[in-house]
Amino acid sequence: MKFCPNCAAALAQRVPPGDSALRYVCDACGSIHYQNPKLVVGCVPEWEDRILLCRRAIEPRYGYWTLPAGFMENAETTGQGAARETLEEAGAHVELITAFSMISVPSVNQVHVFYRARLLDLEFKPGVESLEVALFEETKIPWKDIAFRTVTLTLKHWFADRARGCYGFHAEDIK
Ligand SMILES: [Zn+2]
Repeated sequence: MKFCPNCAAALAQRVPPGDSALRYVCDACGSIHYQNPKLVVGCVPEWEDRILLCRRAIEPRYGYWTLPAGFMENAETTGQGAARETLEEAGAHVELITAFSMISVPSVNQVHVFYRARLLDLEFKPGVESLEVALFEETKIPWKDIAFRTVTLTLKHWFADRARGCYGFHAEDIK
């Protein structure tokens, strides 16, 4: 960040009084521009013992498989964002069940939240950000070609919970 979004003056970086972290501060208008982690929201769309995955048509991780997920937008809830991303990336209509995983990824300043979600039909089709969309049972999951560690962790929890017959909530960190 070089210039103030409020007044376009050059920004400085320093620790404001009473704060403990470096911030972008504007000496012209006095505003402090905080930068905070972004929330990525998505679904684990289920159909019996199978999960819907999308193969990415965009970077990063072009060609790798992922759960439908993306950056939360302003003015929506986490659940609305998860369902929206699932519709955009997989053309899939879902009914959310419950929040399932919350994984902090401080190395990229993100938190990933996935919901369990029931597919309402099998009319899914790839959106513009996906090459293909398909349902996978556990033994067919392309584990070596999963795009992100948060997705691998979430899928492992889902199949383990399903085998136990009891779904939990999984809060984790990827250091
Ligand atoms: Zn300013």
